[in-house]
Amino acid sequence: MKIQHQGISTQVCPCGYYNHPEKECVCGAGVVQKYLNRVSGPLLDRIDIHLEVTPVPFSELTAERTAEQSSDVRSRVMGARKIQEERYADSKGIYCNAQMSSKLLRSVCKISPEGVQLLKTAMERLGLSARAYDRILKVSRTIADLAASNEILNEHLAEAIQYRSLDREGWAG
Ligand SMILES: [Zn+2]
Repeated sequence: MKIQHQGISTQVCPCGYYNHPEKECVCGAGVVQKYLNRVSGPLLDRIDIHLEVTPVPFSELTAERTAEQSSDVRSRVMGARKIQEERYADSKGIYCNAQMSSKLLRSVCKISPEGVQLLKTAMERLGLSARAYDRILKVSRTIADLAASNEILNEHLAEAIQYRSLDREGWAG
């Protein structure tokens, strides 16, 4: 398993096989947690998206793919960027969701009462830390922008919640 940060990825254990689908991690008990603790805290606070990535078998890499065209993804990203540019037109020095302050976040990332409940339940069940809360709101705003949705819907929140795997209590513990 690896942690990715803006294209940079790192192993989460010394042998590199933690959570590998076929190979056995040979790191002793507590080693993974200790290793992970080195990247946790202040560093994790700055990372919006934690995604668990397990190795893909060669057979799957070479299989026929029906993946989305890059050009389609590009136009969706451009659209989201445009929405964000307009949103922050009056906020000096801010061009995208990633840059918004926590004060701005409160006004920009409004969610429905059901959304609040969903987030509350997720935080309790997954044992998410307080720092995850703002990150989830911010990322869900971007997911909504990518879907050209004015409102942050529950499905956007749910997707953003999945991207905080390293904030979960007991992860690798
Ligand atoms: Zn290992």
